[in-house]
Amino acid sequence: MIRVNDNFQELPAVYLFTQISRILAQYKEKNEGLPLIRMDIGDISGPIPSSAAHAMKEAVEELATKEGFKGYGPEQGYQFLRDLIAVKDYQQRGIEIDPTEIFIGDGAKCDLGNLGDILSKECKVAVMDPTYPAYIDDNVIDGREGKLKDGKYNRITYLKSNFENNFSPDLPTDVVDMIYICSPNNPTGAVMNYTELKKWVDYARKHKSLIIFDSAYEAYVRTPHIPRSIYEIPGAKEVAIEIRSFSKTGGFTGVRCGYTVIPKEIVGYYQDGQPVTLNALWSRRQTTKFNGASYISQKGAAALYSEKGVKEVREMTDRILSNATNLRNLFEKAGWKVTGGIDSPYVWAKNPYGWSSRETFDKLLSECGVSTTPGAGFGEEGEGYIRLTGFNSKENTDAAIKRMEKVV
Ligand code: PLP
Repeated sequence: MIRVNDNFQELPAVYLFTQISRILAQYKEKNEGLPLIRMDIGDISGPIPSSAAHAMKEAVEELATKEGFKGYGPEQGYQFLRDLIAVKDYQQRGIEIDPTEIFIGDGAKCDLGNLGDILSKECKVAVMDPTYPAYIDDNVIDGREGKLKDGKYNRITYLKSNFENNFSPDLPTDVVDMIYICSPNNPTGAVMNYTELKKWVDYARKHKSLIIFDSAYEAYVRTPHIPRSIYEIPGAKEVAIEIRSFSKTGGFTGVRCGYTVIPKEIVGYYQDGQPVTLNALWSRRQTTKFNGASYISQKGAAALYSEKGVKEVREMTDRILSNATNLRNLFEKAGWKVTGGIDSPYVWAKNPYGWSSRETFDKLLSECGVSTTPGAGFGEEGEGYIRLTGFNSKENTDAAIKRMEKVV
């Protein structure tokens, strides 16, 4: 008998998102209303920067030669990319991170899920509500969730994140072992400042907890003094893993490349009390279960650090930010409560009329032909909100704004 992982039965069925996909497919099929403009997309609308495209083309040609062929690469990533990241993303910004603390992977989502391999099932987990759904699902698959009651798992601590607390939740009253923090945040677009992040680092140091800091959107931060890395906070190297991705900075959602930073100061413990560094454990995990990100994608990622690459990333993120800011302005002018759209490609908006997330979605689709994401799909605290993104083209975003002006 093939016995399967029972935890899959515990996964939340996100009926809302399934329903929404069906409704959008039907809308397009019927072709009766206005042509659909997608303001819900969580993907880059491309194209990838020419610096990266060129470097990847060269890498392919190199692999096709006798001298340039490369087989399996290092599981932790090629030295050229680990060195570049250590210098450009950290050391030049005054943060001491060594290349041996950087692990190249095939994107943030995979590393976020795989990290569970090196952490005990006993760990108590805290997530923000609303949240990027993978943080919960990964822990459900691993068995850290407990029982589901009224849409929430009893072993997971949900930290309410809303306008009342400026999207910076209070510390939990119970002790948690793993805390997911995403800043700039998906879905809310909110960013945590230095003081807010320090509160979490201090908590983690006090309780020997681990922070999993997802900074997939750090390249969108423009406001001075907003931390782009958790390691800007003193002591964070003892308690925080940082996960980054080239997906939303270099348009690499399809190319696949990201990295995870695990400082050597973070120590975990076996049940028998033996200490071990998470850096060593992760390296061990990767050598068994991973054969490295492709040479081609790593060459492409490295090109994003060249003078031309930096300029192209800046242009792309500027364009997306400008779309997001225009969306934010539309809702703000109409008297909605809005966060995001500044330092973030996401806009999180709540109407003043008492419409539910789903009602808002339906109204904008039927009256404007614009698709959004109902906030309720990201957690209980998301009810009443919708999420929009700046990832579509400027032309489409401007057209969507024009259509929505009359309705919001
Ligand atoms: N983390 C957050 C907060 C995201 O929004 C996403 C993608 O949308 C990811 C991680 C996954 O990124 P990647 O493409 O690197 O797997």
